[in-house]
Amino acid sequence: MWVTVSLFAAVLVLCFGLASYSSAKASAPVPFTVVLDAGHGGIDPGVLGVNTGTKESDINLAIVKILEKYFSEAGFRVVLMRKNEGGLYGLPAGGYKRRDMQKRKDVIEKTAPNAVISVHQNNFVSDRSRRGGQVFFKPGDAEGAALAQAVQQQLNGLSGGDYSALRGDYFMLNCTHYPSVIAECGFLSNAEDEALLVTEEYRRKVAYAIFKGTLAWLS
Ligand SMILES: [Zn+2]
Repeated sequence: MWVTVSLFAAVLVLCFGLASYSSAKASAPVPFTVVLDAGHGGIDPGVLGVNTGTKESDINLAIVKILEKYFSEAGFRVVLMRKNEGGLYGLPAGGYKRRDMQKRKDVIEKTAPNAVISVHQNNFVSDRSRRGGQVFFKPGDAEGAALAQAVQQQLNGLSGGDYSALRGDYFMLNCTHYPSVIAECGFLSNAEDEALLVTEEYRRKVAYAIFKGTLAWLS
């Protein structure tokens, strides 16, 4: 796998060399910056696994930490929205969700990234056979749509799902103008997906698919 990662890193360096990521004044290229957003956290667990009750928030964080390693080792500047199990809302009092989302928006605005990847797990109790990764983008965000489709292609086939990237009306997509995607890595309402998503091995596969899709988008 690391040979592949190195190859992608080399492609990335080539891209930086050809593209206008370096200013006329600075000789060093400006690193490509990605915000990695682990959805939920703290008193907001997200959805729960159908058999194990595993919290979506914990799975999201675990996948983001693997992603951080892949992107950092490939030369990206990486900003993590959250680094631990806690949420971003301050006190767990009324209005926590609004404060949490506002903080996420602030982090993105302050970072001014080239891309935002928000990691989530899906839930569809009316059809528990639904499984696989689904990636969302904001209508009108052409770069986000291309990134979403590139990531979607890599996620397809990992667990039986085969989808196109979808338009989504979500705060994390709408809150800034930076290219943004939400990667729903699998369905915690599906027993097979859940059994995969609780394993380190499958989390690595999902993270690598997201990383690979992002590199494909860049090239
Ligand atoms: Zn979620």
